[in-house]
Formats: sequence, C-alpha cells, structure tokens
Amino acid sequence: MHDDPTPEAAWALETQAIRTGHQRTFEQEHSEPIFPTSSFVYGSAAEAARKFGGEEAGNVYSRFTNPTVHTFERRLAVMEGGERCVATSSGMSAILATVMALLSAGDEIVASRSLFGSTVSLFDKYFGKLGITTRYVELSDLAAWEAAITPNTRLLFAETPSNPLSEVVDIAALAEIAHRHDALLAIDNCFLTPALQRPLALGADLVIHSATKYLDGQGRAVGGAVVGRNQELEEVFGVVRTCGPCLSPFNAWIFTKGLETLSLRMRAHCDSALALAQWLESHPAVERVHYSGLEHHPQHALASRQQQGFGAVLGFEVKGGREGAWTVIDATRMLSITGNLGDVKTTITHPATTTHGRLSDDQKAAAGITEGLIRVAVGLESLDDIRIDLARGLDALA
Ligand SMILES: *Cc1c(COP(=O)(O)O)cnc(C)c1O
Repeated sequence: MHDDPTPEAAWALETQAIRTGHQRTFEQEHSEPIFPTSSFVYGSAAEAARKFGGEEAGNVYSRFTNPTVHTFERRLAVMEGGERCVATSSGMSAILATVMALLSAGDEIVASRSLFGSTVSLFDKYFGKLGITTRYVELSDLAAWEAAITPNTRLLFAETPSNPLSEVVDIAALAEIAHRHDALLAIDNCFLTPALQRPLALGADLVIHSATKYLDGQGRAVGGAVVGRNQELEEVFGVVRTCGPCLSPFNAWIFTKGLETLSLRMRAHCDSALALAQWLESHPAVERVHYSGLEHHPQHALASRQQQGFGAVLGFEVKGGREGAWTVIDATRMLSITGNLGDVKTTITHPATTTHGRLSDDQKAAAGITEGLIRVAVGLESLDDIRIDLARGLDALA
C-alpha cells in the first residue's frame, strides 16, 4: 500500500486477498496482528469526547470498532467489489442483521426454496413473529420470482448454486427484476466465495457470507459478513453495533489469514469436485450426479458464464434408495460423516435424513431430495484417497 501506488481495487483478487486491509502498526509487523482487547484508551478527555461523539474516527469499543475485525472487513469488501463490509458473529447473524437493518413490519421477502435450513427458520419463525413475511419460489424460475413480488416486497434473497443439487439462478436477470420493483437483491455467496463468483458486479445489492465455510476453509471458527454499498451497510453496522452480534478479533484474524489462500484452495476444491463428479457418473452404482460443472447439467451454460468455477459441493443418487445411500456412507473410513462443508476435510451426508430431514415428503420431492441422494463437499485430500473411500460402498452396491 504505501510502498505500492496501485489502488487496491485494481489489483487481482489473489493480490487483494494477501495485501488489502492491514495498516502496519509502529511495531512494523509483517503479518496481520490480533488485537484481543474490548476497549481502547484516549490521550485526553477531549479526544474521548470526540471519539464517543463520532466526530473523530477511531477505535472505541470492540463490539463495533476493532482493528483486527476491520482488516477482515476491508479485505473482504475489496474482494467482493463492495464499498463496505460488516463482519458478524456467524452467517446466520449476517442474515439477521441485514433483514433487521433494511426491513420493517409489513415488508415482504421473496426467497428461493432451496435455502440453508436455518435461514428458512429465521425467515418463517422469527421474522414472521415481527410481521415480515417470506414467499418461496423455485430458484431458477425468473417468472416465479417476479410473480411473487408485491408492492410490499423489499428484499429478494437467494443462494446460488443451491445445496445439494447445484441449481443456479441468473443473478443479473434477478437483480434487474428486483430493481424494477424497488427491491434489493441479496445473494448468499457462501458456496462459491468471491474467488468464483462476484454477485455485486452482476447487479446484486448485498452479499452474505458464512465465513465459517470457505473463507476460513479449515473448519476452525464460526463467523459471517455482509458486503455492499455504504448506504445499506451503515444500517447493517447500526444493528451489529447496537444488538451485538459482532465478530471476535481472534476469529476475524483466522478469516483474514484464510482469505490469503482462498483462490488457490477454491481452484483445488473445484478441480477435485469435477474429477469426482465425472468418476461418479461412470460408476454403475450411481444413477445421477448433480454438479453444474457437468455438461449435461441443465444450467451448465449459465453457471459457466456467471461463475469462475463450479464449487466443491455435489450430489449423487445411488441405487437402493435410503439403504443404498446409508451403505455407501457407512462404508467410508476416511470421509467425515457430517453436514458441514467448506473444509479441507471431505464431508459426506444423507440430506433426506439430516440437513433436509425436517421437510415433509412432498417438500422433499419438490426440492429433489430423494432417499438415494448423497451430498459430498469435496475437500483437499488426495482425490485418489477420496475415490477409494467412496468405492468401498459403491462397489458393494453395483
Ligand atoms: C452455513 C451456512 C449459513 C449459516 O452460517 P453460520 O456461520 O453457520 O451461521 C448460511 N448460509 C449458507 C449457504 C450456509 O452454508
């Protein structure tokens, strides 16, 4: 920064991920420091008064001003191409703070049906209680989005690609629909990260992150973030400042260091996921593979245009329904049986009885969650070892 005149915004993402956001202290440290402090001191009563009154910028209290958290926020804001980022204690609190900041009782949300389960609970149970209602539509069906909008709709909310079937929505087209109806578009960019998809550049207004997933990338910490324009983010900041779902400095430091290797990791995740998807497709025990990187995926062309990679989460259906799926999962010796994702460790799960277990049979059918469906979030172990582990159960089914 001071020794490189290039503006951060002009740097490539890989450079931004490593160089943005750190203001070196008088100690001349090379790596980003951690400031585990709740409060900050002032040189005088007058300085304290100016900082409390907001007349002078600077650190006041770590619920809303902490240098380590700020480094993470600056770095992610630049990588997503946003004006400002506000970090939060989790991905869920990023969504909570966004809706609390921008919507009021009587306002409506239109959201895609294939959302993270807790997001649906947050919308239906908790925002429902506050008089904010949500309508759900098929992710890729632009006409359905538009038809669900009413004069009270303030926010369109989507995850793309979806979990676990890798469906995709045209972000630019959805942004155009949102703006035509004076609504904002928020994209949960957790599955692809700015390394593979930059929704703001496609017209979205807000990007939501669960930093818990790929931004950390090693399964160590829970956190979240919202990125967008100053105007909306000032409101989100107000919610975090007053309601308190702030990110801890230690977790912010983990995510900052995670961002440095994000591009490399995401590329490696994608390469392994595509190779695994192709191998699964050729296996006699596998009936179908859902991965937008495969050419026969119905939205392969859109995903290729809108994304810089296809991500690391794939679904595949095996012969024998639930029994077949459980056989494959239980035969693994290395893969982690867990619903989590975004880790260097490959995870495997049976959506119908775990992540989507609360859905009714009809809802499962509508969402394409069959009993034979298995989801794998491909990690960074050797691809050969992942294949060997999956083949144990698959070969027994074939
Ligand atoms: C995990 C996840 C969240 C919630 O994030 P937490 O950090 O667990 O609170 C939200 N959206 C998506 C797509 C997720 O995978």
